[in-house]
Amino acid sequence: CGIVGYVGPRDATGPLLEGLHRVEYRGYDSAGVAVLHRRRGQDAELRVHRTAGRVDDLEASLPARWRGTPGIGHTRWATHGEPTVANAHPHTDVSGRIAVVHNGIVENADELREKLAADGVVTTSDTDTEVIAHLVAAAFDDGAPDLEQAVRRALSRVVGTYGLAVLDAGHPDRVVVARNGSPVLLGIGEREMFVASDVSAVAAHVSQVVYLDDGELASVTADGYRTFTLDDRATEKRPSEMDVAE
Ligand code: GLU
Repeated sequence: CGIVGYVGPRDATGPLLEGLHRVEYRGYDSAGVAVLHRRRGQDAELRVHRTAGRVDDLEASLPARWRGTPGIGHTRWATHGEPTVANAHPHTDVSGRIAVVHNGIVENADELREKLAADGVVTTSDTDTEVIAHLVAAAFDDGAPDLEQAVRRALSRVVGTYGLAVLDAGHPDRVVVARNGSPVLLGIGEREMFVASDVSAVAAHVSQVVYLDDGELASVTADGYRTFTLDDRATEKRPSEMDVAE
């Protein structure tokens, strides 16, 4: 239902929760956030926190010393699976390195889940979304050289609609997003970037936005972004000035 993301030097938690509050009006049944946390001298570690309640409940129940960046967040409007914590987004791969938030419907989820099961992947939710996290991990196993290619290859196996954002502890400086039938936009800040499904989530922070087209992906870092298509052609996007009335 609602997607938010933050890539920049600040703790992502504040911008994520604020963005989720701003998309609450659309209605939802559960919510969650994921951030990359770094302990001094150690690799980035993926942290995920989810609740079957409101964004306020999510915020109130965050573990002590919860922080990290970049991060992604979601408010869910269930299409596949009950509104439970296990079905709330973000969804992760088996290794706990990749997190995905997703709006829309993966139409071939059953078929993909069967293929993943044949490869020994144990799923932990009833959602159609979870397969995407496992497909990204499988793309890395099959030799995808970076997160952009891994997400692109994963989505080439997906039939359906999506607006989505992917976080990977192995590539801790970026978030990769994609759109097919469900809106995704980038908000350009001062050495920080925002992603969202709804402009109201980023309006307070940015004056320029970039709207992805269907079949388009973006790799987002603190200082910029790069867009490309599902068949791996680079695209040129012109940012639009945000209307103050938005
Ligand atoms: N189909 C996904 C699910 O049921 C995404 C729902 C949404 O758009 O919030 O979890």
